[in-house]
Parts: sequence; C-alpha cells; structure tokens
Amino acid sequence: MDIHEYQAAEIFARYGIPTSNGTMATTPDEVAAAAGRIGGTVVLKSQVHIGGRGKAGGIKLAKSPDEARTLSEQIFGMDIRGHRVNRIYVVPAAKIASEYYLGVTLDRGARQITLIASAEGGVEIEEVARTNPGAILRVPVDPVRGLLPYQALGVAFALNVPGEAASGFAEIARKLVDVYLKEDASLAEINPMARLEDGSWLAADTKMVFDDNALFRHKGVEDLRDMAEENAAELDAKAAGISFVQLDGTIGCVVNGAGLAMATMDAVKQAGGDPANFLDVGGGAKANQVAKALGFILADDRVSAVLFNIFGGITRGDEVARGLIAGTANLPRRVPIIVRLSGTNAEEGREILKGTEIRAAETMQEAARLAVAAANGD
Ligand code: GDP
Ligand code: MN
Repeated sequence: MDIHEYQAAEIFARYGIPTSNGTMATTPDEVAAAAGRIGGTVVLKSQVHIGGRGKAGGIKLAKSPDEARTLSEQIFGMDIRGHRVNRIYVVPAAKIASEYYLGVTLDRGARQITLIASAEGGVEIEEVARTNPGAILRVPVDPVRGLLPYQALGVAFALNVPGEAASGFAEIARKLVDVYLKEDASLAEINPMARLEDGSWLAADTKMVFDDNALFRHKGVEDLRDMAEENAAELDAKAAGISFVQLDGTIGCVVNGAGLAMATMDAVKQAGGDPANFLDVGGGAKANQVAKALGFILADDRVSAVLFNIFGGITRGDEVARGLIAGTANLPRRVPIIVRLSGTNAEEGREILKGTEIRAAETMQEAARLAVAAANGD
C-alpha cells in the first residue's frame, strides 16, 4: 500500500529522522495560509503516488504567500503521468548543498533486506541504475538486528560523505532500516537525503510502501489510504474476495489460486502474449464469482481474449464448466474465451462445454497459445 510523501515524513519523524516541518493543503487558501505561517520561501510539493514530480513541474518554489497561492492554482488539478494533484505539501525551502540516496527494500534475488545507497541523489534510482550502476551501493540488512553501526558508517565512508557529517548520515540510515522493519514496509526511501549548507541533514523527500500482507498488524495505517490514488476496480474486486491486479496486456486471465495465476501469466508471455491482469478467483469457480471477475476484466477495453485456467482439486470440473457457462451468459461484451480444465472430472467438464462458445484446452500451454492467437484475431 502506497502513502504520500507527507504521511511518510510524519512516520519517519517519529523514528527520529529529520524531515521538513510542513503542512498538507487541499486548497489555494490553505496553501497561502501555510506559506504565511512558515514564512520566507516555501516549496510546494504535489502529493501523488508517483515519482519524478520535480521534472513534471509538480514541485515549485514560492517566495511569498501570494505567489504560493498563484502557483498552487496551477498545480492543483495538474496531471502527473495519470495522477491528478489534489493535495500539496507546503514545506520550508531548504538550502541544499548535496543530495544522496538512501532506500531500504527486499532484494528478492538476493533473498535479503537490502540498504541501497548512492551519492547520486535527487534523480530516480532506476535512472542511476541504468546510467551509472557502479554508483549504487548495496548492503545486506540483518532482519533482527537491523543495520549495524559499522555497516552504516561503512556506507557513509564508501559514498565519501565528509567526515564530520558521516555519523549523522549513518544514524539516519540505521533509523530508516528501523522504520522499514518495525512498520512492515516493503520500501522506505529518502531521495534526496539532503546535506544542507549549514552541515545538517534533511530527508527532503520521503517515500514509503507498506506490505499489504502485514497491514493487519498496523491498524492506523489503513486510514492513510488515499482513495483517489487507488484503482477502483482493484478495490471492488478486493471487496468481492477476488485478488485482482490490473496490467496493460490484452489477455484477461481468470485462475483459481495465486501460484497458478502467476504460472498462467508466464505461460501467456511464453506464448507471445501479454496478460491484462493477475486474478485469483479463490477456491472453485462459482458462477457469480466468474461473472464478477469477467466484469472487472472486460471493463478494460484493451482485453481481446480471456483465458481461464482452472485446476479442479476439491472443485470438480463439471461444476466449474457449469459455473463458466452461467457466469459468461451475460457478458458486457463478447470476446473469445479459452478454458484449460484439469483435475477432478475435467473430462466431464470439457464435455459440458462442447457446443458452447467457450473453447476447452487440455494443457496450460495449449490454452495460452489459443488465447494469444484469438487475441491476435487468428
Ligand atoms: P521527486 O521529483 O518526485 O522525487 O520530488 P523531490 O521531493 O525529490 O524533489 C525534486 C528535487 O527538487 C529535489 O531533488 C531537490 O533538488 C529539489 N528540492 C526539493 N525541495 C527542495 C528545497 O527545499 N530546496 C531546494 N533547493 N531544492 C529542493
Ligand atoms: Mn525525490
């Protein structure tokens, strides 16, 4: 679950990380009032769940409350790569001398929580990874003990942080790891981690993503969710007990089981297609669940074929087939439907589907090939 910069700043501050003392505003009047209260030059920062706001014109300096008001009128409603600006974080302008990057995330390849650090701060880390991978430092983090003092200092020295600023840098790095571990985050990031002209440190941009599977351990966190930033279909699906993640391919996938759903997406890719979604209908494939799942998938008009991959264990193939027929009876629009039925009573299931518009396949690979061909209009 994503949260906004100003919300992450508040959480980081609780852990002793120095963040901007700003105010979130939702109207030009509130922006002007906040700018007046802060005094001097302020930075207006659009709050959207996407990076690169600076480059997109979503971050502006204002020298007076009047200028803040005028600029905020341009920023509110701005579209930053598909995200509309409804909130502006007003912070005192900082005199930045140099910018570093600090992030904590799970490196799945290395199977380790990893601190990522770079002296190339301020730009997106993905860009540094592309253009100058040698400038990125990775340090494994012990999930119980956190980042050890010698590791944190080692990072500061490896990045050539000036000697007198090294211990301050190291302390913030350790606290960032603390946030990540204690809050069950999947990402905790400071970019830029700014060294100010007076020698102090400031986490000038804070980003945090919570691990959805651990939200139950952090009751207040749900309240931080910004509904305007969420995918409406994904939320509706969640309420219906369906795990649904929208992607941008053309082949809709309806699968029972998360592991099988991942395998199905791989099979689609392997057959030369692109999945339009990840979807786990849960146990079985009851008519009403199938109908709901198809509703979410077909609402995306890029979808030109649907692949069902149903493994019958406790669920019987004949039941699944009847569920599919009933569930596909009143589609919002017609697209080719391919089903791979396997497991208990699969043959009976395929028999039931004969003579319907639903095409049955025996293997996952065959079903994926048929779906890709159908999506391509062959
Ligand atoms: P992002 O573009 O979405 O990552 O937003 P950031 O908050 O990181 O802002 C982008 C850039 O704006 C930073 O890397 C800084 O260079 C600059 N910036 C942000 N706040 C301040 C500030 O208070 N003072 C100065 N001088 N620059 C700032
Ligand atoms: Mn940033």
